[in-house]
Amino acid sequence: MIKSPLLDLVKEKIVDKNVTVIAIVAPTTSVAIGEHFGYKPGENKISNLVSSLKKLGFDKVFDIGYTADIVAIEEVFELLERKVKNENLPMLTSCCPSWINFLSKQFPHLAKHVSTMQSPMTVMGSIIKSFYAENEGLDSKNVFVVGIMPCPFKTLETNYVSEALGGLKPVDVSLTVNQIAGQIKEAGIDFNSITDFDFDAPFNQTTDVAHIFGYAGGVGESVVEFAKRFRPDIELKLIKTSGIENAKSFLESLERGEVDADVVEFMACSGGCVGGFGMACQTLKGEEKEKVVAARKEGLKKLASEKKRKIYNATGHSLFKNWLGTPYSETAKKYLHKK
Ligand code: SF4
Repeated sequence: MIKSPLLDLVKEKIVDKNVTVIAIVAPTTSVAIGEHFGYKPGENKISNLVSSLKKLGFDKVFDIGYTADIVAIEEVFELLERKVKNENLPMLTSCCPSWINFLSKQFPHLAKHVSTMQSPMTVMGSIIKSFYAENEGLDSKNVFVVGIMPCPFKTLETNYVSEALGGLKPVDVSLTVNQIAGQIKEAGIDFNSITDFDFDAPFNQTTDVAHIFGYAGGVGESVVEFAKRFRPDIELKLIKTSGIENAKSFLESLERGEVDADVVEFMACSGGCVGGFGMACQTLKGEEKEKVVAARKEGLKKLASEKKRKIYNATGHSLFKNWLGTPYSETAKKYLHKK
């Protein structure tokens, strides 16, 4: 029996008929959850997971990949504005809470470099508790959002309280892959044989970008590639780096003005989220761990190759068309960015 006050809270909300409980799942989770049920790292088991989450009692299950796309678009526009004004460069990516926590505690004077964009997880929570709740006729105070993530540090993001949401938290609880696998086993659900469900609409459509966010380099590459499509005349320099042990020396170089880049992607786990500590094999080290991380990365690349890389016509994206208006609009800044 796995004991945790967070799990107890989720169970309490699931049995409360007045509350709509929504699971939001990171792309990396889909290629790692199977490891708990006898599959190899990198095997996509998303239908088994979504079906198991429905059996556990979640009302809806949405794909965080949807908001990874939105994050990439918003970061592009934020970066281009900084570049044109030549201010606060390089822009540092903001979707790894462990890295952001280190920077804010050890180098708070460099915070102006950090992108104001929230992470794909909290962007999804913000959209659910505003746009989606309104459309579905739900009171957002009775919507409970649970992240299913590769990362124990995502709990840090559940402390974020949004002014735009009237003081609600976009995401109420973040559980790791290990925790949710434990719940599935404890409930006696036959994970391997149930594949009845897939992600729920409307947050079930992604491009390949959503999947490459899960490994080191993916966020930065997506931003630079999208930027080229919007402004091919602007040349952008990208640095991709990972491993929290490298954060101090990197930030010291930034302090000395020695970082020659417009945008820097920094992920605390070596290899990015595919190396996150909330998944099976977290105790492995060296070559053994590298093999698992590489297999999960291959799994994400395979998923990405199955998605069509569209040239983003931001105004054609349903969320921009129906709610946000244009990328980096005042509505987008209010709901999706931090002040
Ligand atoms: S890189 Fe690691 S610490 Fe950062 S968000 Fe991903 S899993 Fe979490």
